[in-house]
Amino acid sequence: MRPQFVDFHCHLDLYPDLEQAIAVCDASQTATLAVTTTPKAFPRNKELTASSEFVRAALGLHPQLVADRAQEIKLFEELLPQSRYVGEVGLDASPAHYRSFDIQKKVFRKILELCEESGDKILSVHSNRTSKIVLDMIAAFLPTDRAKVVLHWFCGSKKDVLRAIDMGCYFSVNEQMLNSPSGQRIIAIIPRERLLTETDGPFVERDGKPLGPGDVNNSVKLMAKVFGCEKDLMRKSIIKNLGKLMA
Ligand code: MN
Repeated sequence: MRPQFVDFHCHLDLYPDLEQAIAVCDASQTATLAVTTTPKAFPRNKELTASSEFVRAALGLHPQLVADRAQEIKLFEELLPQSRYVGEVGLDASPAHYRSFDIQKKVFRKILELCEESGDKILSVHSNRTSKIVLDMIAAFLPTDRAKVVLHWFCGSKKDVLRAIDMGCYFSVNEQMLNSPSGQRIIAIIPRERLLTETDGPFVERDGKPLGPGDVNNSVKLMAKVFGCEKDLMRKSIIKNLGKLMA
C-alpha cells in the first residue's frame, strides 16, 4: 500500500453503499480506517474490505451506543482476534449520553484490558467531554508498549494534550476541528509527527453536506496552514506518520 492520503476515522458503513464507499477510497488511494459502531457490524466490514488495498476495518463499540449495546462486549471479545484495529471506542459524557456513563466506563475498561491481553492493537478513541478520564483509563489499563492509541477529534485542555503526547498517542484531526479556533490551538501544540487526518464521515459536513469517504484533501491544506508549511510536505508527513503507526 502506497497511499496518497490518510483518513484514519471514517464510518464507511454509514454511507448508503459500503462497497461503493470502499471503492471511492481505493480510487483516491486513501488509506482509510473503516471504524464501526457495533461489533455486529464488523463481520460485513471485514468481509467487504478483505480485497481492498487501502481500506482496513476496525472493530468498535461506540460509547454513544453502549446504553443499548453493552451486552455486545461478548461479541467484541469473540471477534477481537480477527482485527488489529479497534474503533470506534471510548467515552462520551455529553448530556444525551451521560446516563450511561457508568456502564460506558465498564465497557471501555474491558476493551482496554482485552487489547492489553492480546497486544499489538491500534485504537481509534472517542473522548467527547472525557479527555482526562480517557487518558487516565488508558494509562491504567493499556501500557504504551502493548498498543497504539489514536485520539480521534481530541478536544482536551492544553494539559491533557501534552499528557497524551507524553503517553505516545497519535491524533486524528478532521476538517471541522481545523476550522475552529479552539481546534487549531490544540493542533498547533501537537508535534507534526503525531498527526493524522480523518473525515469522521458522514458526520462531519461541508456546506451542509457530509464529507465523502476519504475526503481529507481540504484538511491537509488547513493543517499545512497551521504549521506554516507546504501542503505537499504536510501530506507526505501524514503518510509517514501512518507508516510509523502501523509498523
Ligand atoms: Mn466517529
